[in-house]
Amino acid sequence: MLRFAQHDIAVNIMNEPLIVCENLVKIYSLHQEGGTSVEVQALQGLDITVNEGEMLGVVGASGSGKSTLLNVLGGLDRPTGGRAFVGKRNLGTLTESALDEYRLTEVGFVWQHGTRNLIPYLTAVENIELPLTLSGQVGKMARERAMELLDLVGLRDRMDHRLEELSGGEQQRIAISIALANKPSLLLADEPTGELDTVTAQTIYDLLRDLNKRLGLTMVIVSHDPGIARHVDRVVAVRDGKLASETVRVQKSDGGEHHVELAVLDSAGRLQLPREYLEEFNIKRRVLIETTTEGILIRKPEGEAHSGEQGSSSDEQVSDEEEAVQVPSKLSQAWTSAMSIVRKGLKR
Ligand code: ADP
Repeated sequence: MLRFAQHDIAVNIMNEPLIVCENLVKIYSLHQEGGTSVEVQALQGLDITVNEGEMLGVVGASGSGKSTLLNVLGGLDRPTGGRAFVGKRNLGTLTESALDEYRLTEVGFVWQHGTRNLIPYLTAVENIELPLTLSGQVGKMARERAMELLDLVGLRDRMDHRLEELSGGEQQRIAISIALANKPSLLLADEPTGELDTVTAQTIYDLLRDLNKRLGLTMVIVSHDPGIARHVDRVVAVRDGKLASETVRVQKSDGGEHHVELAVLDSAGRLQLPREYLEEFNIKRRVLIETTTEGILIRKPEGEAHSGEQGSSSDEQVSDEEEAVQVPSKLSQAWTSAMSIVRKGLKR
């Protein structure tokens, strides 16, 4: 028996949304030998909202669509379907030149291998000056801005060190400072600590958090590390190109906090049940959904023994192959106003 209860959950809803993705679809065509092509559905109807000033972590298995999401949000790839807004910009309908302008002025990128684009024999400050010069800031102006950026990432005293004389963590700080050069409102990071040891990774997360607070910078950080929840406001998990769950911090009455993982309803009111719960309760293909005073109860129908059996009760909801349950719209309305949310702190 699975019981979904309504609780007071401290979701970050104080600010306006900066990013709104609705039913986002991205299909890649892979051309094969012989002239045929296959389609890969990297994003399959993903809904997500990120508030201004929020620091969001995105986790998921390899191939689940995390980088594709970043590429769409960064204006590097166009959505195939659905909508992706950043501020007032609809990234699917911007002209090419407006998209170029968006990439240049609104977004900063940090990559796992970002420092490979930097030049080893240039000093830290010269490496920062180079892209500034390319974007039109030259001479004294470029030097002053480069020094400001070094200050932001705490590396002023390393300004004259060649890149190859800096540690991996310091090099990633330089890459972060370059991402901030054009004062973006959104920072996108793809595995920014992927090549760093745990201690150095912690210092990079601390820096990102500091920049998030000081600059009010919205951040979306892709990571394979589920422990990222400690460093960010909220973590979403992507599975098969869709949002599967969110982990949020919840304030406790004693002033402490803990993390709660929430299942996410999609825009059609569908909910993907965690596989381990289905296995625990031996739920196969169909479930019974009932309302109780505490919330919504999902359980295995009486006498349901085999996954192939057909049921007769009109109350039984048939789940699809991915165990998605469609919550009756009457029930889901109360929850879905902010695109969420059912609590996964399941009482049995
Ligand atoms: P993740 O970042 O979670 O590892 P990706 O977003 O990179 O996942 O990839 C999602 C799916 O899309 C994978 O099946 C991947 O092979 C495919 N994919 C990603 N980029 C491309 C591309 N440029 N062309 C074709 N397929 C791609």
